[in-house]
Amino acid sequence: MMVVFSSTLVMGAGLVLALRASEAGRLWATGHVLASAAGLAVAASVGLGNGSPQVAALGAGAYVVGRLIIYRGVRVYYGLPDHRLLLRGVGAVTVVLLALASGLPDGPLFVHGMAYGMLAMLSFSTIITMLRSRRGRTSIGGPLVLASHLVLLGAQVAALSYGAAFRGIAVTPFFLQTSASVWPLTPLIAVLLGLFGFSLMAMEQIIARNESGARLDALTGLLNRGALDVTAMSMAARWQREGEALSCLVIDVDHFKAVNDRHGHHAGDHVLREIAIALDNSRRASDIAGRYGGEEFCILCPHTDEHQATALANRILRKVRLIELPAGEGAGCGHASVSIGVAQLRGGATGREGLWRSLFAEADRALYQAKQRGRNQFVVGSSMVVEAAPATSSAESAKSDTAVPSGLPVSADAADTPALTTA
Ligand code: GH3
Ligand code: MG
Ligand code: MG
Repeated sequence: MMVVFSSTLVMGAGLVLALRASEAGRLWATGHVLASAAGLAVAASVGLGNGSPQVAALGAGAYVVGRLIIYRGVRVYYGLPDHRLLLRGVGAVTVVLLALASGLPDGPLFVHGMAYGMLAMLSFSTIITMLRSRRGRTSIGGPLVLASHLVLLGAQVAALSYGAAFRGIAVTPFFLQTSASVWPLTPLIAVLLGLFGFSLMAMEQIIARNESGARLDALTGLLNRGALDVTAMSMAARWQREGEALSCLVIDVDHFKAVNDRHGHHAGDHVLREIAIALDNSRRASDIAGRYGGEEFCILCPHTDEHQATALANRILRKVRLIELPAGEGAGCGHASVSIGVAQLRGGATGREGLWRSLFAEADRALYQAKQRGRNQFVVGSSMVVEAAPATSSAESAKSDTAVPSGLPVSADAADTPALTTA
């Protein structure tokens, strides 16, 4: 027993360090350290011929608190309210009751029943929590933890029945004498299995977080350029195989340098985040939005031809025009705007990388045209015709209106909000 508890104690202590990047992992490791230390203390006191009811009661209390911490870790892992105060209160009350009961004539029986009753409830709650969570069933470590808790629950119920059946016979010290009667090593193997499963789950979480961190842009939370390139190339490959339309929008914030110059870099970052939210809210679920670099974004639209993509461009123009720029001395208040180049993949290049490059290049050329034609509008690459006019001035508005081909969507409120102009 002492060897097993010492091993789980050392493993738990190592895992406190190894899993410190995951809050759930920290809780699991800490809970195991406490539970193992409690088991070790009880086992050591029995080994020394000193198995007093008080030591057994305190050991039982500490063991239950350890399992409460482990259960809290499970809740944190699945993003559920961790009931920190409630679980702490339950732990404190349990320890006090066990300590008080240990001095009574029937104390050992009470300690036995209460401790195993609490442990069985915790095992049951853990199993239910995991079964109700989809991730609990799909992660690699999850089934191990589930199996471990099923075995623990069985052993705890058996220990409870043993206590009830042998009522009147001394059942102290907690955990050792009774478990010796109900298949001694099973619960301990289950604890080791659980420890292993919890470690796997925490590692999975840390790896998933690192992976998504490597794919996402830190400022906006959209895909970063590397991830966008990878996605775009796999979409281009699918376009080669299936021939489904694939369109791309390249979006650049207008006069963004002026925002930084007037209001500072932090304010600029805030505007970039707002624009990213507007893009994210404008796209369909199947569209992929990313930050291509600086103040330039890109949206990939599978199953979408350029005509359909103009509807998205219009939505984006409208949403971005609602973003207020920070008020600053002398700068007055204005609204953000973007220019957009729209293109549809038509081939003309070989290989998925070549196709993606040609698609992006065409959208980028269209974006350049949109900038040239006054910003706050989109241009479709194939036609290089202005599709929506910003109307920063009536002259520009008139010019743009004449350029809109019939049948194509036009940004209805183009004239509502003036584009930001350089100082
Ligand atoms: P245009 O309408 O022609 O696109 O003008 P612009 O001022 O937006 O373009 P320019 O390329 O001259 O300036 C882009 C600015 O974007 C300069 C750069 O400091 C700023 N920028 C790039 N990345 C970030 C960022 O992450 N945060 C902030 N605050 N600014 C950024
Ligand atoms: Mg710009
Ligand atoms: Mg730019």
